[in-house]
Amino acid sequence: MIDLRSDTLTRPTDAMRHAMVHAEVGDDVYGEDPTVARLEERVAGLLGHEAALFTPTGSMANVLAVRSLVGPGQEVLCEASAHIARAELGAHGAYTGLTMRTWIDPRGQVDLDAIRTIFAPDMGPFFVPTAAISVENTHNFAGGAVLPLQDLRDLREYATAAGVGVHVDGARIWNAHVATGTPLAEYGAIADVMSVCLSKGLGAPVGSLVVGSSDAIAEARVWRKRMGGGMRQVGILAAAGLHALDHHVERLADDHEHARLLAEACGVDPAGVDTNIVVVRRADAPDFVAAARSEGVLVSAVGPTAVRLVTHLDVSREDAERAAAVLARLA
Ligand SMILES: *Cc1c(COP(=O)(O)O)cnc(C)c1O
Repeated sequence: MIDLRSDTLTRPTDAMRHAMVHAEVGDDVYGEDPTVARLEERVAGLLGHEAALFTPTGSMANVLAVRSLVGPGQEVLCEASAHIARAELGAHGAYTGLTMRTWIDPRGQVDLDAIRTIFAPDMGPFFVPTAAISVENTHNFAGGAVLPLQDLRDLREYATAAGVGVHVDGARIWNAHVATGTPLAEYGAIADVMSVCLSKGLGAPVGSLVVGSSDAIAEARVWRKRMGGGMRQVGILAAAGLHALDHHVERLADDHEHARLLAEACGVDPAGVDTNIVVVRRADAPDFVAAARSEGVLVSAVGPTAVRLVTHLDVSREDAERAAAVLARLA
């Protein structure tokens, strides 16, 4: 089987497992795990922020990040198919007590005109005030779309002038960085707080981080524990993340090339495929998924008329070519 359902499906390589086995560890709730400390320092540095916090999942990282900017009874604005709105099971409402309003962009882009239209200043006891704007780079459900740096800078400028925060869901910021050559710190500069995942394209088995100011991260550390996310000798997992940062970032370019190859096979314009995700619009999505499966290629339906293919560390060039041949025949 060639598994193109998600880039979360990767299994740790032998070299990564070796790094995990030999990780120096301590109790991280006591602040005594040196490998976690190294990972947090490294990721904060890469993104140009003061501090970082290791979390078990990207969803927890997002909840911690957004709640650092948005209180109960306040709102965050985001694109309608954002992961925070669609795929975190209402965590932000359930834990933080915030609300969301959304703008719609089929490519998941920053739409400043739409944001200006829905933005709500604090008018006292009348309307829910906007406290932050959240964007996703790359945008998962928009097919791994990259947000252009200039749009992000314009958003930053707007948010600063409006007196609200910016959250970036950077689960796949590594893909945006490799696809565009934009330094990670330039993406980091857009955000007050940002979340990043090690468990997607980077191929680690577990792990995400929140980056932000020392104060925001100190508070996030308290809330992580409150939510049951305080972890002990977790340097074993942080070691996988450090290994991934050393060995699995630049190779994302291969995933992007494989995605374009698969797009072409499915009749999708490869020029519209920015990174490692291809969305194929088909009226028969469930049937297409079943037919592909019977030929040894796993893809997923992300709606009745959308099929999603994701390339990753465990899909070789040869796998991609074989899958492309199967999908081209079915398409
Ligand atoms: C995967 C993902 C997350 C986090 O997901 P977890 O499964 O909770 O680790 C957050 N944002 C985006 C855009 C994602 O694709």
